Amino acid sequence: MVMEDIYHRPLLDLRISVTDRCNMRCRYCMPREHFDDNHEFLPKDDILRFEEIVRVVEALIPHGLRKVRLTGGEPLLRRDLDELVRQLRACSEDLDIAITTNGLLLNKHLSNLHEAGLSRVTISLDALDESIYKSMGDTVASPTVVLDAIDAAQNIGLPIKINAVIKKDVNDNQILDLINCFGPRNIPVRFIEYMDVGSTNDWNLDHVVSAKSMRRTIEQHFGTLQANQPHHASDVAKVYSTTSGWKIGFIESITNPFCGDCSRARLSANGSIYTCLFTDKGHDIRGILRMDASDEEIAEAIRSIWLQRNDRYSEKRSNQSKKAKVEMSYIGG
Ligand code: SAM
Ligand code: SF4
Ligand code: SF4
Repeated sequence: MVMEDIYHRPLLDLRISVTDRCNMRCRYCMPREHFDDNHEFLPKDDILRFEEIVRVVEALIPHGLRKVRLTGGEPLLRRDLDELVRQLRACSEDLDIAITTNGLLLNKHLSNLHEAGLSRVTISLDALDESIYKSMGDTVASPTVVLDAIDAAQNIGLPIKINAVIKKDVNDNQILDLINCFGPRNIPVRFIEYMDVGSTNDWNLDHVVSAKSMRRTIEQHFGTLQANQPHHASDVAKVYSTTSGWKIGFIESITNPFCGDCSRARLSANGSIYTCLFTDKGHDIRGILRMDASDEEIAEAIRSIWLQRNDRYSEKRSNQSKKAKVEMSYIGG
């Protein structure tokens, strides 16, 4: 039986953070002054083992779960991630298994992940310009590493999407270059409005470029954008096509929130369920997983959390933006 929250939103999609660590320090996500050498990442014993993650997914599939997304932190820092993909694939042939990665380690793991049954990959790339990329990600890595991984993923036949967070006066000049780079290769680019996740990125509305204004800029260069019909009501991106058929998505959490159809739960690396990206309260399920609970008991525990869910943060943002929120690198983007 499908699980529904108090607004009748089903639980269809589980984002699984497999680590809270990352090999980048994007200014908008893990600013180095907060995530420095003194930062205490989760201890190894607290982190869910693959078998425990699989138990959660197995328990939820009969209740409507159709998609999982492996994320973090940087999911490819988790050793043998392909083994998790293999175990998840064994749960169901039909499960959509996606990963969101910064792409720096993707080339190395690509064929193993593909063979294990990964369905798709979303690669975050905020800029093609080397110096903008380096300063946004606070990294010495070059975007060419990510571009090589994108080539390899395309050659192997894995469906790809590109995510770019757009920050005003930082990388808004990259929008057209990203479209020109990926449009002709039929790789959809999704522009994300800079969000007020967590409490460390010093978010301010003045740093946000609205999707509407991005579309205005894009239309000046590529002509009128045609809105596509969503595949599912719960799709996070609003997708448009250029006159040449290139797909461009917008994740407009700030200016056009989509809480009404939000069917996403998050499982943190240490085994807590979060019912909204912008909450500070997780519900521990690692305890029952480590007490050898049955599938029914795991599903029942999650159902009781989901039944009480009334999150609509993005729709009520203006009067809540000062509240404490968990970091995105911890619960998974
Ligand atoms: N490390 C992986 C990556 O960067 O793809 C996965 C985790 S990351 C938290 C997931 C997504 O969240 C990335 O596409 C990232 O750009 C996005 N993200 C992180 N902080 C954000 C913010 N403040 N506003 C909007 N998107 C953000
Ligand atoms: Fe790491 Fe991804 Fe956050 Fe950047 S957005 S700091 S790559 S977790
Ligand atoms: Fe879903 Fe929370 Fe985002 Fe609204 S703010 S779309 S409820 S995660």
